[in-house]
This record gives sequence, structure tokens and C-alpha cells, in this order.
Amino acid sequence: MSKTVDEVLAANEEYAASFDKGDLPMPPGRRFAVLTCMDARLDPAKYAGLAEGDAHVIRNAGGRASDDAIRSLVISHKLLGTNEWFVIHHTDCGMETFTDDIMRDLLASSLDTASVDESGWHDHGTTPGSHEAHHISWLTISDQAKSVAEDVRRIRAHPLVSGRIPIYGYIYDCATGKLVEVAEATRAGKPTS
Ligand SMILES: [Zn+2]
Repeated sequence: MSKTVDEVLAANEEYAASFDKGDLPMPPGRRFAVLTCMDARLDPAKYAGLAEGDAHVIRNAGGRASDDAIRSLVISHKLLGTNEWFVIHHTDCGMETFTDDIMRDLLASSLDTASVDESGWHDHGTTPGSHEAHHISWLTISDQAKSVAEDVRRIRAHPLVSGRIPIYGYIYDCATGKLVEVAEATRAGKPTS
């Protein structure tokens, strides 16, 4: 029916045909976790050299330290033994292109996909919108180095996060594929016990 479903299932068939990782243990073998953005240009397995079973990768819009991202990190350490964490945001992130107010207005106008140009975001949708967006903090970003440091600080200060876990802050450069450390973030993420 859907070309996308066909393509995904064909790719999976090929993957499964030579699959030999059925015996991996559940805890990540390299005992670390990465919190990063869902941006389609980022492939954490490639940019951080991960194979199946190596590490936890938690992704959301922006790679932000939302309550749910922290939920996953706490499980990652408490139940599955990761003991080093990376927060990795990136250049040219879509989360820099809007604010809470813009997102709320767009969604109040319609639920359809909006468009963006030099003058900003525009809604041309034909479906009804919703004001529910006013109740969500969209965790937008105005400065990547600042957002990485802010998120590392939030995780570091969280009462359910062990002070023994170092948290490192990086920005992935979409133009070069390189990870660039945010020194202020890594400093803030130093273990406290
Ligand atoms: Zn992004």
C-alpha cells in the first residue's frame, strides 16, 4: 500500500538475512548513553562508532533533557549499567527556527505541515487546529552551546541522577561530521561524588 512500508520491509528482510546478533545481552556492552537530536542528518551509530548492543541512544527533537529523556537516562544507569553520558546537540538544528509562540500559533491554525521561508513559518493548512500546543513547552533552542550546557546542568542537578556519572556536552557539526566539545557543559557535567 505505502511505498515507504514496502521499502522498510524490504530493507529489513535484507538485514535479517545476514543477522548474527541474536545473542546480545540487554545491558549496553560499552556502558554509555547518548542523548541527541532526532534530525535525519544525524546517525549516532556512525558519528560515534556504535554497533548493535554497544550503547543507549535516546533521541528527541533537539536532543533536549526533557523529563522523558531523563526518565530514559535514569533507567539506562539504574537498571542497565551505563556510567558515562553524552548530550549531543548539532549545528543547523530545526529547534532554532521557531519559538513556543510560533509553534502554538501554527498548531492553533491547523495540524497540517507548515512551510518556512526567509520571513519565517507559515501555516496553509486546511484541517482544524488546536490550542493544546499552549500546554507544551517545545524546548526550542536559541544557542547550541547554551542549550547543551543547560541540559547537562539539568541532568547533573536531577535528584535521580547519580553524582558518579560524568556527563559530556558536544555539538555535532552537520557540515563536517565532527563532534565539537562544549567545554562549559562538560565542566558542568563533572562527577560530584
Ligand atoms: Zn536538531
